[in-house]
Amino acid sequence: MKGNRVSAVLLAALILLGVSRPLQAQDQDEGMRTLLDVVERVAQAADAAGYLALLADSADRGRARDFAASELLPGATRVVVKERDRLPLGGTLPGNGYRLWIDSFAEFGSRSRVATWRVDVRRVGEPGSGREWAIADQERITSVESIYRLSLNPSKQFTARNLKLSSEDLDVTLADGSVFVADIDQGVTGLVLLGHGTFTFHPAPEMERGQVKIFCGREALEAGFDAAYIRLHPSDFNGAVIASQLQEATVDPRDLRHAQDVFKEESQKSFAIDLGDLSRDAWTLLPQSGDFLAELRTRKYDTLTYAKSSTEAEDITLFDRKRHHNIAIYASKDRLAQRGRFYNEDDLVDYDVLHYDVDVAATPDRLWIEGRAVVRLKVKAAILGALTMRLADALTIQSIVSYEYGRLFYVRVKNQNTLVINLPAPVTRDTQITLTVAYAGRLEPQTPDRETLGLEQARGETDDIAAAFLAEPSYLYSNRSYWYPQAAVTDFATATLRVTVPASLECVASGELEPGFPALLPGTAKNTKDPKDLSQRRKVYQFSASQPLRYLSFIVSRFMRAETVTLALPVPERGNQVVLNGISYHSLNLSVETNPRQVQRGHDLVDRAGDVASFYASLLGDSPYSSFTVALIENDLPGGHSPGYFAALNQPLPSSTLSWRNDPASFAGFNDFFLAHELAHQWWGQAVAGRNYHEQWLSEGFAQYFAALYAQHQRGDELFASVVKQLRHWAMDQSKQGPVYLGYRLGHIRNEGRVFRALVYNKGAAVLHMLRRLMGDEKFFAGLRRFYAYSRFRKVGTEDLRAAMEAEGGRSLERFFDQWIYRTQLPKLKFSYRVDGADVVLHAEQIGDVFDVPLTVTLQYADKRSVDVVMPVTERSVDVRVTLAGTLRGVDIKEDGTLAEISKG
Ligand SMILES: [Zn+2]
Repeated sequence: MKGNRVSAVLLAALILLGVSRPLQAQDQDEGMRTLLDVVERVAQAADAAGYLALLADSADRGRARDFAASELLPGATRVVVKERDRLPLGGTLPGNGYRLWIDSFAEFGSRSRVATWRVDVRRVGEPGSGREWAIADQERITSVESIYRLSLNPSKQFTARNLKLSSEDLDVTLADGSVFVADIDQGVTGLVLLGHGTFTFHPAPEMERGQVKIFCGREALEAGFDAAYIRLHPSDFNGAVIASQLQEATVDPRDLRHAQDVFKEESQKSFAIDLGDLSRDAWTLLPQSGDFLAELRTRKYDTLTYAKSSTEAEDITLFDRKRHHNIAIYASKDRLAQRGRFYNEDDLVDYDVLHYDVDVAATPDRLWIEGRAVVRLKVKAAILGALTMRLADALTIQSIVSYEYGRLFYVRVKNQNTLVINLPAPVTRDTQITLTVAYAGRLEPQTPDRETLGLEQARGETDDIAAAFLAEPSYLYSNRSYWYPQAAVTDFATATLRVTVPASLECVASGELEPGFPALLPGTAKNTKDPKDLSQRRKVYQFSASQPLRYLSFIVSRFMRAETVTLALPVPERGNQVVLNGISYHSLNLSVETNPRQVQRGHDLVDRAGDVASFYASLLGDSPYSSFTVALIENDLPGGHSPGYFAALNQPLPSSTLSWRNDPASFAGFNDFFLAHELAHQWWGQAVAGRNYHEQWLSEGFAQYFAALYAQHQRGDELFASVVKQLRHWAMDQSKQGPVYLGYRLGHIRNEGRVFRALVYNKGAAVLHMLRRLMGDEKFFAGLRRFYAYSRFRKVGTEDLRAAMEAEGGRSLERFFDQWIYRTQLPKLKFSYRVDGADVVLHAEQIGDVFDVPLTVTLQYADKRSVDVVMPVTERSVDVRVTLAGTLRGVDIKEDGTLAEISKG
């Protein structure tokens, strides 16, 4: 069994390392090249008769004529034909027939077209005879029409006076200047504006105006520009530009050169596609009708990009090119009218990935990876002609083959880690497609990102060098690396993952390690002289994820297994709740892998991780995954990253001089806070995912609150109170930066990771704590269980959380979530009390907007006893009457995570 597996893996490795074409004799290739050269020539000349002359006697001439009519088009100025793949042709003797997959590129002036053909060839003569191969059959598999090579029209220049251009929430004015155009057969699709220009960007949504204000100090952004580049669909040109504002002028060579410089730089940034070896020229796709792009070169802010793009759920953006910051992203008026206030990123996807089978060989010292991914997907769109997938730009694709359609043509969209795969014919909903993508390249491991609990603060150069000498290197490829071909948005799917690494390194990945792995691969003759020498050998790991994952990850480093245990999880009584999606585990295989110097630390880590996991399972009813591995890696900072099935946890070195004590995510009083936060992500963030970036607090805020709950469980109320105090401090301090609902965009414009952590992590957690105090523990935890059960392996939103909590709490929480998650402001409370006979009357008043907010006060009695009273403040003015249990000495306000300014009077 084990032997079979290894040889299957070896075979896969050979396919990976070899070229995708079978080896063949040199002379055979020469004959084939001669044939393809002729095909290229007859295609360029649109010479149908010439094509028919290449046919074998047995070929169907009618089919060939049809093919020539649709594929050999007149007017081509350049044709390139490239063989991509070949297989032996059935019914022929070995070496006497092949099925070829061919890409053909045809240029017609500034327009071009790419097609993939299947061509069957048979041997009809001897090598060197001049006519060795003839065409037996042919068919077009896919084509991409209407690709354009844009350039500015050098013979047209316009003088502009008060030229006005606009798109939703954007007004551009060129008071005085020149305009050049890029036109194609359908009309003008690009413009370069030179001169004295101004523009105003004034987003309609309040949340976006707040972000614009953070960027420029005002709610509308007004700036001057001296050059701009505009892209639109030719049919939109007349609507966007008033012709009378443009006057034809004689071309000034200096202006033209300037405009061409602007064009050259800006036009490559959008709509550009890479045709690989078919053409090195800069080709672009046409914007869709209604789309609008403006690259505005301002003096004050560098280049700002406004885009209206109908393919995006939030179709209006303003982007700071130089700093890579999104200033505004939101839905246009039409889009809002169409879909309502909330959206699920899955609503726009064309297909659903069912299963990934990824085989990857990693050579970390060269940062090289080679992969072969089989992706099984199901079409969700009513009708679909092309698949959009993501794969890092740095990875070269060797081939994309579908089980159903054979080899497929694709284009890479530049600078977007995106590829578009053409299907031979449109397919309908529920069609299943299995794609195999072979790829390789040099890929940097993942740097800390918005799902990594880490720091972006500037680090001293010396510290970096010191750390580099000391820390064991590790290489993480995860959700931001695009290291395997994947759906355009994260998509729950099961997976099998095989990772081959140098024998001196180890690997931890998403999925349960299968029995018999890792397995050492047999060495090649060259490097097996000394069987003990592992330096040239490789070993393979196989992981399987039978529960759905949002994305696949692996980390390679020098690991030692510190400990592994199987943990029985405490399972609470489950009420009559929703049926769970997927499998529910009541035990967990828990392992700790560490860098060699950390093994000692790893031994007790397994107990602590087990304690955390048991606590979470007792709250939520199960573990969503069957196994969990902590990979303890040396790093100069605390922090971690938690994909499904494992977490990489940074172990700061004793030599590290960096400190991040003054950070919202650092809790100095409780060392296991990071571990508890990262482990909570198995439930919140992995099993339960937000339906778009706005809902990130359902992952980070929940992980943070669960870590706080664990702190309370482990160390008691005093520590919990100090954690809650810190949550409150940061949330209050940074709240004006925007609502929790902005997700990663909080702090993004100014690169302040602390703002993001203060609000998405800490305010999110504090909001849960306030909800708990308003609802009471029993209903709150029942609501959490209900939400978790409903949400497992689904993409959900704050509205789903609200529904679950309302179902348990029995009252509307619409205003609660509206104020705390979707809005920025915090409440102001005024508290007073009076003794009325045997009672005390507690009085709270809200100044400004009315919130739902809990207020805890402590009654201090003369005999030193104290009693806490929680007042649900859900009206403008609230009185709570409490019967006194002694002589009242005073009443104190207890902050307890209440995000309000509270004054006593
Ligand atoms: Zn986190």
